[in-house]
Parts: sequence; C-alpha cells; structure tokens
Amino acid sequence: MKFINKTVIVTGAGNGIGQGVALAYRREGANVVVADWDDSNFAALEAKGLDCLQINVQEEADIQRLLEQTIEKYGQVDILINNAGVSVFKPLFELTLDEWDRVINTNVRSVFLATKEAAKYMKNNETGGAVVNMASTRSMMSEVNSEAYAASKGGIVSLTHALALSLADYHITVNCISPGWIETNEKAELREVDHHQHPSRRVGTVADIAKACLYLTDPENNFVNGENITVDGGMTKKMIYEE
Ligand code: ADP
Repeated sequence: MKFINKTVIVTGAGNGIGQGVALAYRREGANVVVADWDDSNFAALEAKGLDCLQINVQEEADIQRLLEQTIEKYGQVDILINNAGVSVFKPLFELTLDEWDRVINTNVRSVFLATKEAAKYMKNNETGGAVVNMASTRSMMSEVNSEAYAASKGGIVSLTHALALSLADYHITVNCISPGWIETNEKAELREVDHHQHPSRRVGTVADIAKACLYLTDPENNFVNGENITVDGGMTKKMIYEE
C-alpha cells in the first residue's frame, strides 16, 4: 500500500484503460479523482470510493476546476495520469481541420494544460510528484489514415521529454506509456490478428497498463524520468518479412 495518503488524478478514467488505472490506485489506498466528460460510469466509480468530475480536458477552465476541487478536498495532488484521448482514422484527403484540431487538442493540449496546472501544486509537495502520459505504439509505427492520431501520440512523447526537464528541479517526474492493443470492456473482443501482432501472442490487459503506471509513479523509481515505456508484448520490436 505504497500509495496511501497519495492523491491521484486520472483523466479519461470514465472508461477503459483510465478506469482500470484509477481503480488500481484506489486498491493501493490512494485518493483517486476521475476526470472525464463521459459521466455514465460515475455512480459505479463513486460507489467504489473514487471522486468523479465531469470536465472537458481541452478547456483550461475545466482543468483549473479539477485541480481546485482536488486541492480543496485532499489538500494536495501527488500523481497525474493524462489518459484522456480520442482517435480519428480517416483518409488523408477526407480528414478535416476540425477533426485534426479535436484529436490534437484532446490528446496533446490537454497534457500541456493538466501538467502545468497540477505541477503548480506538486512543486510545493515535500515529496514532489509524478506524471504519466498515455502515448501509443502509434508514436513509433504508423498505419495509413492515422495522421492526426500519430501526430498527437508522437507529440505526447516529445512533450514528455520537455516536461521532464522543466519539472526535474521540483522533483516531479514525467514519463509516458505506449500501450499495444489493450482489451477493455469496450473492446472486449479484439480480433485474432490483434493477438498475433504481439510476439507474446496475446493482447494487453488494463492491468498491464495499470502496473506500468504504478511503477512509474512509485517514488522509489524516480530515477526513471522522461522515459517512454512500451507495454506491447514486443510488438514494436518485431521485424516483418514479406515472403
Ligand atoms: P481506451 O481504450 O484507450 O481506454 P477510451 O476511448 O475508452 O480508450 O478512453 C478514453 C477516455 O477519454 C474516455 O473515457 C473518454 O470519455 C475520455 N475523453 C475523451 N475526450 C475527452 C475530453 N475532451 N474530456 C474529457 N474526457 C475525454
């Protein structure tokens, strides 16, 4: 129970990976604040002892409200998991500027905003803080029709480097995770080909990602900084031969 008395904010924790990460911190004894614009699972999460706040992570005022309410209730924030995200996969010539902006703003601008606002408080903590950003294996390898998503996830990796340097003096670490295909409630049945894309011959679980978050935010591991941890069963290391 390393995370007792720690306060953790997880964005995009109303569903999927974020929800699993939020519940993992709660099981470790942390105070957990879930921030999502989808409130459909809030009642169930509140019943498990998590706080929930409906916000749009693209909006500065919403992020400030998230931090203010967290500080008001718990007095400090120790860990921020920037997980909220969207994807649009469309042919290049059909991708509109609005769609591009929506993906970039949800996935990257939100990381800048939330980390900046959270770090204002974290830097006063005696024990500093830790930030984890959800990148993607799509920051390293691409597929057709993925311009906005690829740029957003690549942006998260570079933003992680910059933030790690800017916040190091305050004992705040900033790392990111690049998941492979992850099975969630929403994506319960991933295709066989998704399983076989990973040399591990399985898709990932929410627990695989939650464990990486716990590792990166454990103060004992604070020499790991600015890193992108790939949790993908070896997928990005696989060479493909076309016969
Ligand atoms: P994954 O399978 O990676 O977990 P999801 O789409 O289930 O993917 O998770 C992304 C989460 O981010 C969702 O819960 C979604 O509601 C949330 N989200 C997306 N955009 C925003 C936004 N602008 N503000 C707040 N939450 C958002």
